[in-house]
Amino acid sequence: MHVDILTIFPGMFYGAISESILGRAQEQGLLEISIHDIRNFSQDKHNSVDDYPFGGGPGMVMQAEPIWAAVQSVTSAPYGSRPPRVILTTPAGKQFTQEMAKEFASEEHLVIVCGHYEGIDERVSDVFTDEVSIGDFVLTGGELASMVIVDATARLIPGVLGDSESAKGDSFYDGILDYPHYTRPRQWRGMDVPEVLVSGDHEKIRVWRRTEALKRTLMRRPDLLETAALTDEDRQILRSLLNQ
Ligand code: SAM
Repeated sequence: MHVDILTIFPGMFYGAISESILGRAQEQGLLEISIHDIRNFSQDKHNSVDDYPFGGGPGMVMQAEPIWAAVQSVTSAPYGSRPPRVILTTPAGKQFTQEMAKEFASEEHLVIVCGHYEGIDERVSDVFTDEVSIGDFVLTGGELASMVIVDATARLIPGVLGDSESAKGDSFYDGILDYPHYTRPRQWRGMDVPEVLVSGDHEKIRVWRRTEALKRTLMRRPDLLETAALTDEDRQILRSLLNQ
């Protein structure tokens, strides 16, 4: 997958995209991330990309032309056989979810635009295929939002996670929260690891983990159970949890 990120703060990305799983995915050739400075598409000698809002009011607005030109420059030579997804980060967008990350992970080319100031000139909105929010709060700019989108998406590209880091058990992968995890030592500050996890009985461990995942979801995020793909076994576990 190739990802183009358009930003006015390219320096914010270098550590974030070169470490850990994102760094390894790029070394393995499974992911390519290019950062582009929107200021390079400015039309004036000061490289400015923002201006005062028509109608007055506080703050500045990112101008349409530099964003449009930057998007054209990275989409004129598309990667892969399908047209790229061109994503605007915005608090007014569709809420980013694991489902959306799975959908993006199946694409060959993503373009992500980071807004700043009060946002972008509305007239450039036709270039976007998606408008995405990472939550109901307002960030200073779209840089952190784009890092969140790329990180959550990249780990779902086949081959990016090793078996031991498989995303399949993660929260939200199949619509519910993850089960609790434990590691050595077996006893820590008077607290033992649940006995079943050291029993060596794989079937008992599987059932325990599924029960704990469902219990945690029921207690913390019951809304997820309305849309999760539950099996007959899950429903039976939930009935017994509700009867306790
Ligand atoms: N005036 C805008 C509003 O209230 O919708 C907020 C602009 S915000 C200060 C500047 C930029 O940060 C936005 O253009 C967007 O790119 C990014 N941003 C802020 N919050 C975000 C969120 N929750 N999800 C995605 N992007 C966000």
